[in-house]
Amino acid sequence: MTDTEPIRFAETAARRPLVVAGPCSAETEEQTLATARQLAAEGVRVFRAGLWKPRTKPGGFEGVGSAGIAWLERVKRETGMQVATEVATPHHAEAVLGSGIDLLWIGARTTANPFAVQEIADVLQGHDIPVLVKNPVSPDLELWIGAVERLRNAGIRRLGVIHRGFGSLDRSHYRNHPMWAIPIELHRRFPELQIFCDPSHIGGRRELVGPLAQQAMDLGFDGLFVESHCTPDEAWSDKAQQITPHELALIIGRLVIRETATATGSLNALRTEIDKLDDRLLELLAERMRVACEIGRYKREHGMPVLQARRYEELLSRRTEQAAGLGMDPAFMHTVLQAIHEESVRQQMQIIDEK
Ligand code: PEP
Ligand code: MN
Repeated sequence: MTDTEPIRFAETAARRPLVVAGPCSAETEEQTLATARQLAAEGVRVFRAGLWKPRTKPGGFEGVGSAGIAWLERVKRETGMQVATEVATPHHAEAVLGSGIDLLWIGARTTANPFAVQEIADVLQGHDIPVLVKNPVSPDLELWIGAVERLRNAGIRRLGVIHRGFGSLDRSHYRNHPMWAIPIELHRRFPELQIFCDPSHIGGRRELVGPLAQQAMDLGFDGLFVESHCTPDEAWSDKAQQITPHELALIIGRLVIRETATATGSLNALRTEIDKLDDRLLELLAERMRVACEIGRYKREHGMPVLQARRYEELLSRRTEQAAGLGMDPAFMHTVLQAIHEESVRQQMQIIDEK
């Protein structure tokens, strides 16, 4: 993927974050217009509203469909905001193409389905409309990139991505787990793609919108894609995570945007220290692997299996406990030891198999 022009909304300020906000769903013309007017008054320049709603189960509000296109056109006329909606099928894409809708997004469930993304890309071929691609529900970076590439191959030049978190069985804190490492890796590989964070769908709760938005800014995200409703408690979908336009403005106003890119002398000194520590870590790891290979040869000569489950269990529990004593997160140490152990086992398997 090369020469992707970042999505630029002509009228947005140069300063982060770019903000796209609006209700989960356009419910009625009145609710859509009221929310839009309040957002415009708070300085939001791009309005979102879902017309076709992907619902997990049948029976919920599935959106007003193409009837809402005229409402979004009215928002645009009366507030001057750009307007965005989700397309999930080629029919949705056809319906919005001839309209005044300025920007599209592909939802998480659609990104997960390459056939659907390709069909939408085929309809959009030859049209110069910006598209934002949400991550798929599962933590699959290649699937996310694949969807962006399908649109890119259809000639869509103004592309961006939205991080909306990943589905997981554990919903005790987040509705969708942020797994920040995945969007960060996407951004590292495709720095030209503007990246938005959707704190509403990650958090699933109003009180998490602000903290998640701040984290996204600290991680260098370009923009925020937020659900905002004139009367959140009466929303027909996703009511627990929607905030009023005024609450949104307060959150945006409180964000601390750290833009300084140039390192000072003391930061450089600390980085040099980190580099030296990393050198030692790598040398120690290499030494550990060398010893693990020697153990592998011993096991081969003595007819022992590679995996000694009891020894591994013992090592894991002793070292995670030790890590906690040293002020580190035991879960982090568990992950590190697991990775090291996996690699040792892989190396020992090779040795055992050597003739
Ligand atoms: C939405 O933005 O309203 C939406 C349906 O989001 P997602 O595709 O992330 O679930
Ligand atoms: Mn929603």
